[in-house]
Amino acid sequence: MSPDIGAQSGPRETVMAPLAGWATPLAELPDPVFAGLVLGDGVAIDPVDQILRAPCDGTITMLHRAHHALTLRTTAGADILMHIGLDTVELNGAGFTPHVAAGQQVRQGDALISFDAASIAGRVKSLLSPVIVTAGDRTFTVADRRQGREVKTGEAIFTIAPDSAAPESAWTAAPQTAETTRDVVLRIPTGLHARPAGLISAAARGFQAETAMAFRGTRANARSSVSLMGLGAQAGDTVTLTALGADAEAALDAIAALLAEGHGFEAAEQASPPAPAAPKAEPPAVPFAPGTEQVLSGVAAVPGRAVGTAFPLHTERVDVAEYGGEPAAEHDTLHRALAAAQAALQAEIGRAPAGSPQAEILGAHLAFVEDPDLIGAADAAIAAGKSAGFAWSGAIDRQIDILRGLGIDRMAERTDDLRDVGRRVLQAVSGKAQEAVVLPPRAVLLADDLLPSQFAALPADGIAGIALARGGRTSHVVIMAASLGIPTLVAVGPGLARVPEGAPVILDAEAGTLRAFPEAETLARTEASVTAARERAATQLRAAAADCRLADGARIEVAANLGGEADIPEALARGAEGCGLLRSEFLFLDRVTAPSEDVQSATYQRIAEGLQGRPLIIRTLDAGADKPLPYLDLPPEENPALGLRGVRVGLWRPDLLRAQFRAILRVQPAGQCRIMLPMIALLEEIRAARALFDEVRAELGHTGPVQLGIMVEVPSAALMAATLAAEADFFSIGSNDLTQYTLAMDRGNPLLARQMDGLHPAILRLIAMTCDGARRHKRWVGVCGGIASLPRAAAVLVGLGVTELSATASAIPAVKALLRTLSTQDCARVARRALELDSAEAVHHLLAQTWPDV
Ligand code: PEP
Ligand code: MG
Repeated sequence: MSPDIGAQSGPRETVMAPLAGWATPLAELPDPVFAGLVLGDGVAIDPVDQILRAPCDGTITMLHRAHHALTLRTTAGADILMHIGLDTVELNGAGFTPHVAAGQQVRQGDALISFDAASIAGRVKSLLSPVIVTAGDRTFTVADRRQGREVKTGEAIFTIAPDSAAPESAWTAAPQTAETTRDVVLRIPTGLHARPAGLISAAARGFQAETAMAFRGTRANARSSVSLMGLGAQAGDTVTLTALGADAEAALDAIAALLAEGHGFEAAEQASPPAPAAPKAEPPAVPFAPGTEQVLSGVAAVPGRAVGTAFPLHTERVDVAEYGGEPAAEHDTLHRALAAAQAALQAEIGRAPAGSPQAEILGAHLAFVEDPDLIGAADAAIAAGKSAGFAWSGAIDRQIDILRGLGIDRMAERTDDLRDVGRRVLQAVSGKAQEAVVLPPRAVLLADDLLPSQFAALPADGIAGIALARGGRTSHVVIMAASLGIPTLVAVGPGLARVPEGAPVILDAEAGTLRAFPEAETLARTEASVTAARERAATQLRAAAADCRLADGARIEVAANLGGEADIPEALARGAEGCGLLRSEFLFLDRVTAPSEDVQSATYQRIAEGLQGRPLIIRTLDAGADKPLPYLDLPPEENPALGLRGVRVGLWRPDLLRAQFRAILRVQPAGQCRIMLPMIALLEEIRAARALFDEVRAELGHTGPVQLGIMVEVPSAALMAATLAAEADFFSIGSNDLTQYTLAMDRGNPLLARQMDGLHPAILRLIAMTCDGARRHKRWVGVCGGIASLPRAAAVLVGLGVTELSATASAIPAVKALLRTLSTQDCARVARRALELDSAEAVHHLLAQTWPDV
């Protein structure tokens, strides 16, 4: 958009159509808030395409959490709200894919949000999409509208010009009275989305007082609907209102009434003419019904797809009375219940495959049931007159509070296990037997959250998929599901409760969706493709054990990443040719002191033997930042990801690094283990570590060849690869951290998860540089970060010069299968093209086009 000078008091700007379609006057929208210009003036478009594009240059100031609307601030300061469809906030993001984030600068024509018009259209009031210059403190006049006609994307739809300069703020202009403040709970069911925000801002503009709303540390001008929407406040949240000026109290009353009762919002809803197409979405409690497909989105926790039958699983609450009978009798009841829980756990452990995650997790539960402190606390409460159940719950709750209070994520995750054990024992105290669950064929389990014991009690071979309304990607149930290859979605949200038992569903953990009542044709097609994928996977698995060679005979080693001994059987079964990354942290976590040299050496020895002579690369302790170890007593850091972590910890505590070197060097046969240093950023670091390593070798009289390599996971290491290669025996690229540090995006931040993509050309260029540097000193380069587990990405890595890949065990058969069909030249050709592209998205597109059947 080019500002030019018009008749108004400021520069006139031209706004282009963000969508192609029929341009309609706002007054014709079936929505009184938009039609009444409460949110501002503009034009609506009935779209015929599916990508919303920037209508002018500017900055994204708000992307709604439901991804159906965003605001762009123009050069002259106007806020343009684009709202795809009406009532689309209720889809909670299903069907929308944003390409931008708040704060991002865009050029006219840039893709902002893609949407699946076909899936959205049937579920909302209308696809008519308002494009509005929002009303705020500063008003703009909209002119030169093109409406009542077809428009193309990028064609001018109106012009805008500011009316006058912004009015002076009451905070500076009004005689200084005190600010009036009030906390109000938001009751609008769908949160502060466009229409309620519009009504509130319109109400605020009706008062002289300056009003603001604050939520979670952000303060928004109440007269600005976009600022209000940007707060992201949801039903049930408490917001703080402030007002300054003569009619402050009245202004707060009006806003609080809208927030607390949703009056204005409901009135607007009632005034809406009946929806022209589909009926309005039902309230959350009403189950979905056959006939209309419903799509819910969640977060993929275990990849894969499943077609099956919905089977909701409810966790029954066990209520307990505070006071019980005689303490002796209550004591007896508790200890009988503990014994029963213990026996049940031992039986379940016996049924789980030895060394599997299930067995380990249930083993941890058994330790809780036998925990003397927990039992002691419960016994003491019983002696003070409490019932057995109440005493046990109290002991568990206290322990949960302690773990949460540590502020360590891993510890907080353990609270699920405590809750689970708490529930198991309470069930036994209540004397009610756990009801046996009979699963339908190909059950897709739906639950608010699932506890490990509930999962362990089910026949795993009858579960086709799992969808959880809450849950986290790293919960124990997810780990158990992953070990069994059951596709799992988490964080699907409350809509999951609307999927009734018996509904046909498609769970797609690749796309992050759960489709209930899909059309028969979609169901049949997906079923066929899931079956074909299963058959393909079976064929790939049968061929997985053989060494991996490209079509031209070039050898590529495909190894597995291991997090401990328990992972070995699965890795070997999937064709791992060794271990390219043993994350030795597993030995150091969940302890009060570091493991001794002897304990470490014995563990590494067992792993080396478990790998039956295959190469084992042990990464030295990579602690700090997201992997905190309380007993290290690291000094407090403002920014731990850039502080003492990786090899820096080992150099700061050389006693730890020395013990680990010694432990690894003692493993027999000498030479099976290679050693890898994490997070090398500087040449000095590898020199210091090697000096310590040489000292230890001399102490042990170790003379055989042992490779000491480094991880390349910091941009400086890639940029200095040629220099570092002179001192390191090999490189292994940690693409997870390399992506984090190159794109300056926290790898654990869910808001950045989509953009944190290791296939971004910036990362690929650093990998190419690493391979060039290594080649000069004839060093080999591997990749052990997440992208090594993606078959197409693996081919690009090979094309860049990588000769070793260390992947998640489950990905190995597919990685080998694709590589065997390609020559070195094929891989290099695609890699060269990928390096020249301008975004990760473009690289994915290229790979999907090049190898569509993978
Ligand atoms: C990586 O950063 O890519 C890597 C393999 O290390 P980790 O994920 O353990 O930090
Ligand atoms: Mg790393």
